[in-house]
Amino acid sequence: MSAPDDRLAALRGQVREWGRDLRPLALEIDRDPEAIRRHFDLPAVRYLATMGIPAAYGHEPEKIDGHRFHGDSATERAVVMEELACADVGTLVAAPGPLLAGVAVGLLADERQKEWFYGRMLREPLWTCFALTEPDRGSDAGALTTALTPTPDGALLSGEKRYVGNASRARLAVVFARSRPGPLGITAVLVDTATPGFRAEPLDMIGLRGARISSIVMDEVPVPHEHVLGRHLPPTRRGVWGFVQTFNLLRPGVAAIAVGIARAAHEYVGAHRRTLTATERHRLDALGRRIDAARHLVRHAAAAVDARGGDGHLASAAKLRAARLAEDATMATCAFFGPGARLAHPLLDKLARDARAMEFLEGTANMQRLNLFQGLLGGRIDRAAPSPAAAI
Ligand SMILES: Cc1cc2nc3c(=O)[nH]c(=O)nc-3n(C[C@H](O)[C@H](O)[C@H](O)COP(=O)(O)OP(=O)(O)OC[C@H]3O[C@@H](n4cnc5c(N)ncnc54)[C@H](O)[C@@H]3O)c2cc1C
Repeated sequence: MSAPDDRLAALRGQVREWGRDLRPLALEIDRDPEAIRRHFDLPAVRYLATMGIPAAYGHEPEKIDGHRFHGDSATERAVVMEELACADVGTLVAAPGPLLAGVAVGLLADERQKEWFYGRMLREPLWTCFALTEPDRGSDAGALTTALTPTPDGALLSGEKRYVGNASRARLAVVFARSRPGPLGITAVLVDTATPGFRAEPLDMIGLRGARISSIVMDEVPVPHEHVLGRHLPPTRRGVWGFVQTFNLLRPGVAAIAVGIARAAHEYVGAHRRTLTATERHRLDALGRRIDAARHLVRHAAAAVDARGGDGHLASAAKLRAARLAEDATMATCAFFGPGARLAHPLLDKLARDARAMEFLEGTANMQRLNLFQGLLGGRIDRAAPSPAAAI
């Protein structure tokens, strides 16, 4: 193995080991997503609580086999996400940590804002949320209407958000809002969710219940000047650029989560069916090859993001392929256990519900196709990578 491969193999081995604690929690967290509060001491949950915080802000790296990890590259995140999603995706998405909001802060915040945000994350495990989607504006996020109205001290935030992961328990939020018409009129702000006027309620979800998907209502939430993100950046590098780049950087990790769910389903057959017919063996092996191919694509997509500062086009191919794989794998796996599979095997039922949510998380399949085609037409996809067109 080459040095980078050694490094990633060490990370994968360690995270897989941590993941062993998560599988027994799967049905508990699915029933009661707040049960995660009893498991903050697990190594995987502790790692996620600070994953991605840069060393410059006092984040001690995780030391594994002589290598140091901050979880701040797409390649590292893809390894962690696949392994922990395979162990239990519900616990992975239930864990506190900076994830989407932390990446947005890394892109849009000035030094003082970063010190404030990352400092709070390092002091104690805190949930954060990234509030972009609105009730009637999901895929068309650029049309958002949450209002940011200037005041002498900063601004007032009013509007609604929906389907926001962990919002009902988040202490810190990155909220996207509009201060004037047009794409350059969108701004991101940091909100302490204890501020009067901010209310978030969990929605009753079928899949990925651990993520505590929530709705948010904001009624004249005061936002001080110092919590407005991107004031030191040119207008083209603020709101829309900020959420597009955040998605680009995290997309390989989202695709890796879907690969992890598919792998969990595949492994479930191996663990619960003692003998297989020749046809079944053939089907299971074919599924295993699809999982390996998807992981390969995710790895290339993560490398492209790391090498070219957030080029997420190949990652769209990976997310597209992996989300479809997760759905196919969980449904195909049910077929190994007969007509009552989802009743007799609650973990399989949960995997199938979780897999369905992957279609929507971070952009639907159609949105990924649009992004992928824009990349192909613009010549921005590395043709040496595994054929992205095969994902379409
Ligand atoms: C588990 C989960 C976690 C989430 N976490 C967050 C979060 O943390 N923060 C956040 O802000 N949001 C979050 N979301 C919301 C997510 O980003 C949206 O669900 C997603 O953007 C789709 O929006 P929508 O649900 O309104 O569907 P719509 O945009 O209404 O799409 C419905 C269908 O129409 C298709 N469609 C829409 N527009 C087009 C078009 N132009 N061309 C072709 N087809 C189109 C879509 O592909 C889809 O099939 C989460 C969602 C889920 C399920």
